[in-house]
Amino acid sequence: MQSDPSYLEQDEDINQFDIPLAKRTYLSNPNSKLIKKLLIFSPFFFLLFFTVSWRLIRNIELGSFNNINFQAEKDQQNRILGHLPYSEVPKNKLVLIEPNIEVHIDMRDSLLNMREEASRDGIYLVFLSGYRSINLQNDIFYSLKSIRNQEAAERARVSAPPGYSEHSTGFAIDIGDATQRETDFETEFENTDAFRWLRKNAARFHFKLSFDKNNKYIDYEPWHWRYEGSIDALKVFETSNKEI
Ligand SMILES: [Zn+2]
Repeated sequence: MQSDPSYLEQDEDINQFDIPLAKRTYLSNPNSKLIKKLLIFSPFFFLLFFTVSWRLIRNIELGSFNNINFQAEKDQQNRILGHLPYSEVPKNKLVLIEPNIEVHIDMRDSLLNMREEASRDGIYLVFLSGYRSINLQNDIFYSLKSIRNQEAAERARVSAPPGYSEHSTGFAIDIGDATQRETDFETEFENTDAFRWLRKNAARFHFKLSFDKNNKYIDYEPWHWRYEGSIDALKVFETSNKEI
């Protein structure tokens, strides 16, 4: 009977069957218990991690947003009646381009080239006002205010208070149409050929309209252009450009 091979085979089978049964004891192993617990709680850990990270990211974003707001608020505080402050250009940076018109030396060539090119297209630009000292701006602002019987806030929509004019930097120029002088300093200047030509070509000469129709502080001034073709000029107008 001992030599019966079928009995041996059966015994072997039982042993094989016993092995998985013995393996079941692994659940009582303390390490396995820990793993099991971790598996059960893993969704909660994930949720906790997700919530903490999300709040952290959100705080960082809010922080930088507040910084931007703070900067914009600071710039607003520097304004007077909607105008940004501008200091006076040093006298040695000014050049006379016409008997009564001085401009910043950086923009002279570009301005004269622009007028020259316009005339080749049959458009005649006339320069009305360039650099204005803070003293002159003072006279303009207060005399016009009293002549027109306007409050300072009303006047400020069409003329900058002294110390707050782009003209004191030497980088601003008021331009008219030589064939339609009745539109000088008037909104109607926008209907002249000169204005249409400037709209199309001024950017090539680094000139930009300072107060367009979208400006929320100052009335539309189609005649008033500023030069942004040098590092000095860009620095001067950095705040203004940032706000738009
Ligand atoms: Zn102007």
